[in-house]
Amino acid sequence: MPKRFLIKGKHCVLDYSICPDEFDRSKALLDYFDDKFPKVFKSLNQEASNIIDILLFDGVGASASNENRYIKYGIRNSRKDFGCLIHEATHLAQNYKSDTYRNNQFIAEGMADYLRAKLSDDGWDNPDDQFPCSHRQVQLDCSKCGAGFLMWLEAKLAVKDFVARLNDSLRNDLSFDEFLFGICKDASNLC
Ligand SMILES: [Zn+2]
Ligand SMILES: [Zn+2]
Repeated sequence: MPKRFLIKGKHCVLDYSICPDEFDRSKALLDYFDDKFPKVFKSLNQEASNIIDILLFDGVGASASNENRYIKYGIRNSRKDFGCLIHEATHLAQNYKSDTYRNNQFIAEGMADYLRAKLSDDGWDNPDDQFPCSHRQVQLDCSKCGAGFLMWLEAKLAVKDFVARLNDSLRNDLSFDEFLFGICKDASNLC
């Protein structure tokens, strides 16, 4: 039976009877999270909230709930893939209205993977799910294409605090096109 544990003040739901080694892994994940979480929020120019729970569970998959302020993370995700926590933390820092997320899903997911690639110690080291992806053209249903697209755009526009500005814009209900228009007015010779 899964049991609920508090590790480092975070709630973890784990079944140690079938994976006794996962206690150490859980601690390592939470150490990693404590280090990265403030960096994710800082990158998006947001105050880091301290009321986040991490629900570690014995399985595969990850998700974030802005409403309930938690991240769920399956400790059977790739052994190397701590970066997945950065992706989910980004969704908490974005805290978009559901319409905003729906209308900008490619950009929102791209931003989460952009920070995952930038802030992971290993860049992005998940053999099951590699970055950058192999597509030759941007595919709108591929989140890693979103990250690649944002990196390309950031390099092309060369504006300071690019993702923080993009995030601010989406939080203020501006569309991606409106964000681009605002940037290009600042740097009209690039467009
Ligand atoms: Zn996501
Ligand atoms: Zn792709």
